[in-house]
Amino acid sequence: MRLVVTGGAGYIGSHMCKLLSEAGHQVCVVDNLSTGHREAVQWGELEVGDIRDADFLRSVFGRFSPEGVLHFAAKSQVAESVQEPADYYDNNVVGALTLLDQVRRQAGCVFVFSSTAAVFGVPQTELIDEQHPRNPINAYGATKLAIERVLENYAIAYGLRSISFRYFNAAGADPSGLIGEAHEPETHLVPKILMSALTQGEPMRVFGEDCDTPDGTCVRDYVHVNDLGLAHLKGLEFLQKAEGAHFYNLGNGAGFSVMEILAASEAVIGRAIAREICARRAGDPARLVADATRARKDLGWVPSYPNIAGIIGSAWAWHSQRRF
Ligand code: UDP
Repeated sequence: MRLVVTGGAGYIGSHMCKLLSEAGHQVCVVDNLSTGHREAVQWGELEVGDIRDADFLRSVFGRFSPEGVLHFAAKSQVAESVQEPADYYDNNVVGALTLLDQVRRQAGCVFVFSSTAAVFGVPQTELIDEQHPRNPINAYGATKLAIERVLENYAIAYGLRSISFRYFNAAGADPSGLIGEAHEPETHLVPKILMSALTQGEPMRVFGEDCDTPDGTCVRDYVHVNDLGLAHLKGLEFLQKAEGAHFYNLGNGAGFSVMEILAASEAVIGRAIAREICARRAGDPARLVADATRARKDLGWVPSYPNIAGIIGSAWAWHSQRRF
């Protein structure tokens, strides 16, 4: 297929491009390079521009004629979204709507959307499946939910076929060592732990130990970036046959606290990691763990990295020999 990948210079998008290209698809990356890296675009061509720029998108679509769009370009930090919601609505909602204007005019073009566990808000059940009410508690989750609703409406009105994948916590890196997680500044737990171990600088800050969890630190479901990509490959196949807007939660179904991730990281790298307890971060639910049964059943999705040690090990391989 000819596929536009927005945000293809970013962490998850670049891993997606590698998998797509290895599966024989033709990739056109659309990225404004605000947080992505030119060096990460190694599979497919790169069009530098902003998804809020309708003229730019029109010219890309006119030239490339995509049969599908995978939309990764977004702002994605919970705490920042609480402080700067306008930026989040502009990038994530206005940007996605501008992109969707092109998608729905492109006959037969399917759409795969990067959504998030943050659409659910405070969990009402131990594991979160697709029936769980969507009630975000931060602006990031609210912007992603807005587009999930748009996709439901566009399926009915315009016949747009789509899948929204709700990622739990993406982590890890491709085993090739060519790409990996490289945010500037880094805010995510696993890379911050590994970078702090490498630099032996400031102690690792643990955001809160007063949550309603066994050790008081937040529990998350970590899923390998290539397993997210694998679900997208399966999703593209699924959309060849399935009409409508579809929603899948993607996680391993196992929760790890911040303290458990620190311990697992110490075991992987064989070194103690200094830490200090700090205040909780605004907008952080205590526990987010997926029930991904639907993705397994409908898409035949079977993650290749079910264990946390394998996920952290792949991230460690990248961080200890980082290329960008
Ligand atoms: N976290 C932490 N220290 C850090 C970064 C993150 O304690 O330096 C915690 C954060 O509060 C959350 C978990 O680690 O409970 C995962 O955070 P991350 O930013 O990686 O992903 P999120 O769950 O926000 O998408």
